[in-house]
Amino acid sequence: MKYSKLFPKTLKQAPSGAESINHQLLTRAGFIHQEMAGVYTYLPLGWRVLDKISDIVREEMNDIGAHELVMPALHPADAWKKTGRFSSFDVLFKLKGGGSDLVLGPTHEEIIYPLVKEYAKSYRDLPLCLYQVQTKFRNEPRAKAGLLRGREFLMKDLYSFHTDDSDRDEYYQIVRKAYLKIFQRLTLPVVETKAGGGTFSNLSLEFQTLTPSGEDTVFVCESCKTATNAEIAEDKKCVQCGGNLTLERSIEVGNIFPLKESFAKTFKLTFVDRDGKEKLVSAGCYGLGISRTMGAIVEVFNDEKGIIWPESVAPYQVHLVGLDLDQESVMREAEKVYKLLQVEGIEVLFDDRVDVSAGEKFADADLIGIPYRVVISKKTHSAHSAGSTSPSATSSGPSGSLQVNSGRAKDKLEVKKRSEKETNFKDLKQLIDIIKSN
Ligand SMILES: [Zn+2]
Repeated sequence: MKYSKLFPKTLKQAPSGAESINHQLLTRAGFIHQEMAGVYTYLPLGWRVLDKISDIVREEMNDIGAHELVMPALHPADAWKKTGRFSSFDVLFKLKGGGSDLVLGPTHEEIIYPLVKEYAKSYRDLPLCLYQVQTKFRNEPRAKAGLLRGREFLMKDLYSFHTDDSDRDEYYQIVRKAYLKIFQRLTLPVVETKAGGGTFSNLSLEFQTLTPSGEDTVFVCESCKTATNAEIAEDKKCVQCGGNLTLERSIEVGNIFPLKESFAKTFKLTFVDRDGKEKLVSAGCYGLGISRTMGAIVEVFNDEKGIIWPESVAPYQVHLVGLDLDQESVMREAEKVYKLLQVEGIEVLFDDRVDVSAGEKFADADLIGIPYRVVISKKTHSAHSAGSTSPSATSSGPSGSLQVNSGRAKDKLEVKKRSEKETNFKDLKQLIDIIKSN
């Protein structure tokens, strides 16, 4: 993508009213645009990040035998009246259409139970694990923390249906491990946090990212590091080891819990078992906030200059900064590198603007936060021209490491990792090797 064509450009100032770091940085860098409290447009850069987070989540869900579907955002209110949640769910969006009551779905038990009931009738149809990545709605009274607390947000929700609780509990552990793998791939640190969940509290878990800007609070044990949701912590002592608990702010990025039997009873979700007897289906529900995770990543990975995206979710891997582009030979060289990187399957944002200063381009690169900044300029270009003939023929240094070897005539590209301070000189092949090794 050429930056000259990218919509929109960066902003010098965060909009007034943007209080949280993720709201400020994502808006200034051109990833999101707030339409009203808790409702955002995901701009092209932001959508690329959400897509990458979603894809990682999809890969891990598919890997544990779950199947993707998409259920509607607009629900008939009847099912919600049946479960009693039409009146008890305090942040439910209700509307009227075609003479009936409707609901904008904050979760999908009311849709998926009747759906599964219609098709899964025998033990042979179970277990059944279905998930979606979909837009959800909650009428939050305080939607002020950017993507951390939206009124409209992107979420992955998985529902699993089983013949009995022990099969369900076994799958619950499989999902738990898949979640840890997801957060590991995102490089987002999380603590597994015991949470309240009525009779099933021993199995209800939240995945919390500890950060001072979080809106949630958890108690973390000073000795064994066990985390407990502030709602269920007792007497400020650890339930595992009796150690002292400290209160930490956090962001809940995921939660997994067994569903209450009452849903199966309400919808009469039963199956015929091997013995010919009709039994209630046992189910679990597993949520992961996709857009909230994007906000959490920005809250954790940033500095005074901007965002520092982990490589797994960055909108592009390379931010190619062209300087002195009014010189035809430099522009030609930059275009060539831009194309060669793309041929190698590397995603590049190429700042091809001619009328913008180096300082402004570097500030934009730092704000946007792409992992590798690569500079081509009069300086690097002439260094190359004076040296060897082709970039691929010059790779004598150890590829895959970031050693400083500046000043040598064969060097060609000025490379800087967003997460590091020093600049290194690499030829194209070395750069490609480094990026591909990650
Ligand atoms: Zn402890």
